[in-house]
Amino acid sequence: MSVKIEKAAGTGFCFGVKRAITTLEKVAKERGCVETLGAVVHNQQVLQRLEDIGVSVASTIEGMTGNTLAIGAHGVGPEVEAAIRQRGVNIIDTTCRFVHRAQAVAERLSKSGFFVVVYGDANHPEVKGILAWAGDKGIATRDATAIATLNPLPKKVGILSQTTGIPANFIDFVKALLDTAFAKDSELHIVDTICHDIRRRQTSAQKLAEKVDLMFVVGDHTSANTNRLAELCRRLTETHLIETADEIKPAWLKGHKHIGVTGGASTAEETIDEVVARLERLYEKH
Ligand code: SF4
Repeated sequence: MSVKIEKAAGTGFCFGVKRAITTLEKVAKERGCVETLGAVVHNQQVLQRLEDIGVSVASTIEGMTGNTLAIGAHGVGPEVEAAIRQRGVNIIDTTCRFVHRAQAVAERLSKSGFFVVVYGDANHPEVKGILAWAGDKGIATRDATAIATLNPLPKKVGILSQTTGIPANFIDFVKALLDTAFAKDSELHIVDTICHDIRRRQTSAQKLAEKVDLMFVVGDHTSANTNRLAELCRRLTETHLIETADEIKPAWLKGHKHIGVTGGASTAEETIDEVVARLERLYEKH
């Protein structure tokens, strides 16, 4: 059977993850070891590789054992940053510049009297950090009705998105807010904080998903941007989210002749290539 396996454009680590990993590798080499506050990226393979060279994870500031702490690409809020400084350890900040931008927007809006709404997953570390820069004068949610139930309704609302949001969903969220949560003379300020790498990745994944009859999205099951990619592809074709090539079930391939592969922002190019190679081997056996 003739089968075509195609990789989406722009796979591999995004700018922010690449920079965070390169920085940690350099610091680990120079100092022998470095701790990160929480997982530096949401990808088990990457974390394992970093651990092998001396990069370990401290789940809390109090729990750290060394004297060098790295802030991950997702960033942290001002209180966490102050607590790290108070500890007197060396700080390596690998916060992605697009996350920094979203944090600055949240702080600016809050200082200008806006109630800050972060469209995103309230439990995600990046979102928690962004909201903290608003001095917690705001809310993180994907549900517009959560704003409508506030009493009193805020008159000035500033809206931004988690950097890995889907642009069309962000627009729908803003529309729903306009319908449900705005009183007369309300003021609305929208700032587009969706990362450009994520936009390109989503667009190329969608283009490929439109052409193929089966799609694989490679990345950690807990990664926000990987889940968003899978959500977009699923709207267009049958899609499986897998972490590694080993997760591919041969039965999934039955009857499919054009397979697409893409990956999240913290998925290494070599992991994508391993998926493509396994697919090729499985088809050879058919
Ligand atoms: S996905 Fe975008 S915002 Fe997130 S780390 Fe990568 S480049 Fe930065």
